[in-house]
Amino acid sequence: MLVERLRLVNFRNYARLDISLPGGIVLLYGQNAQGKTNFLEAIYLLATTKSFRATADRELIHWLAFSQDFPIARVSAQVSRRTAGPLNIEIIIAPQSGAEATGATVKRIKVNGVVRRAVDLVGQLRVVLFTPADIELVAGSPQARRRYLDITNSQVDPKYLRTLQVYNRILAQRNALLRQVRERRASAESLAVWEDGLVESAAYIILRRARTVAALNDHVRLIHPRLTGRQEHLRIEYVPELAGLAKPPELPQAEAELVDLLRRALRRVGPREVALGMSLVGPHRDDLKFYLNGADTNLYGSRGQQRTVALSLKLAEAEFMRAETGEWPVLLLDDILSELDAERRRHVLGGLLEADQLLITATDLADFPPEFLGRAARFRVEAGQLTREA
Ligand code: ATP
Ligand code: MG
Repeated sequence: MLVERLRLVNFRNYARLDISLPGGIVLLYGQNAQGKTNFLEAIYLLATTKSFRATADRELIHWLAFSQDFPIARVSAQVSRRTAGPLNIEIIIAPQSGAEATGATVKRIKVNGVVRRAVDLVGQLRVVLFTPADIELVAGSPQARRRYLDITNSQVDPKYLRTLQVYNRILAQRNALLRQVRERRASAESLAVWEDGLVESAAYIILRRARTVAALNDHVRLIHPRLTGRQEHLRIEYVPELAGLAKPPELPQAEAELVDLLRRALRRVGPREVALGMSLVGPHRDDLKFYLNGADTNLYGSRGQQRTVALSLKLAEAEFMRAETGEWPVLLLDDILSELDAERRRHVLGGLLEADQLLITATDLADFPPEFLGRAARFRVEAGQLTREA
C-alpha cells in the first residue's frame, strides 16, 4: 500500500501542505528542525491514531493556530491498497470546548467521509516505523515491548484491538475492586464478576501475541544473521505472566485450555492481589526477551547489539505484516541512516526495496547510499514546506 497524497493543515510546523507522493523510495532530506520527523509523524498518526512522540495531542496543533479562531490541526491522506479499495482518511484534532485550562483536545476520525471510531481506523493504513528510539524495545522497560506487540497486532487483527480495549476496561474495574477488598469495603467473592471477562479476553490476547512472536522468530532467524555478517543468532521469547504455571514452549494452544490455566493462576495469586490492590496475572504484565547466541540482550548486549536487535525486529515486523495481510505496510524510516555503518545501510535498504513505499529521512544526501539515490524520489524539507527535486 502507499500514501498517494498527504494534506496537512496546522499540523506541527506545517501551516498548510498538499503533496502527492510516488511509490518506491521517497527521500525527505533537509537540515535539523525543518519538519522531516513531523511529516512521518502525520502518516503514523493516520495509521495508529496516535503520535509516536507527543505526550499530548495538543502538541500536534501548530502554535500559530492558537492565535486564530479555530485552532484545529487536520491531517488527511489518500491511500491506495492492493487488497482493498482506495481509502481516504482524515483526523482532526481540536481543543475540547470549555477545557482551555486543562489543554484537553478531541479527535475526530473520518474514513471515506464517514465518522468512525479509532478501532475502525487502525489497520486500514498500515505502517512500520523505524527510529533511533527503537533501541528502547531492547534496552528499555517491558512497557515499550508490550506497546510494540499491541501496535503490531492491532494493525493486522481488528479483533485484537477490540479485545485489548475490553481487557483494559475490565482490568481497571477489577483493580478498583481489589483495593476495596483490601480496605474491607467489598468481599473477596465479589471479584468473581470480572473473572470470566478477564480470562477470556486475556486468553485471546496471549494466544495472538504468542503466534505473532513465533512468526517474528521465523523472520529474524533469516534477517539477523544477514545484518551481523552471520556472527549472531537472535531468538525472541514471549514471556506471558501466568504466575509460574506455564512457560512459552508449553503454553496451551487452545483458548479453552488457556482460560483454565488463567483461572488457576488467579487462584494462586489471589491473596497477594488483594494485599497489593492490583491484578498480577495477564497480558498487562507480559514481556519479551531477546537472546543473542543464548545471552539475554537486555542484560548483556552492547549498545550496538541492542540497536541491531531492534532493527531486526522492525524488519521482521514489516515482513510479518506483509505475510499476514498480503501487502507491504508503508515503511517510515526516521534518522536511522546516520547510526548505521555503510554495510548495514545497504542491507537494510536492500531488504526493503520491494516495499510499495518507503519514506526515509536524512539530514544529508551523503548519508544515503549512492546506489539507491537514482531510485529515490527526492524531496527537500524546509521550514514546513516540501519541494520535489528529483
Ligand atoms: P531533525 O533533523 O533535527 O530530526 P526534523 O526535520 O525532523 O529535524 P521535526 O522534528 O520535524 O524536525 O521538527 C521541526 C520543527 O517543528 C521544530 O523546529 C519544532 O520546534 C517545530 N514544531 C514542533 N511542534 C510544533 C507545533 N505544534 N507548532 C509549530 N512548530 C512545531
Ligand atoms: Mg527528525
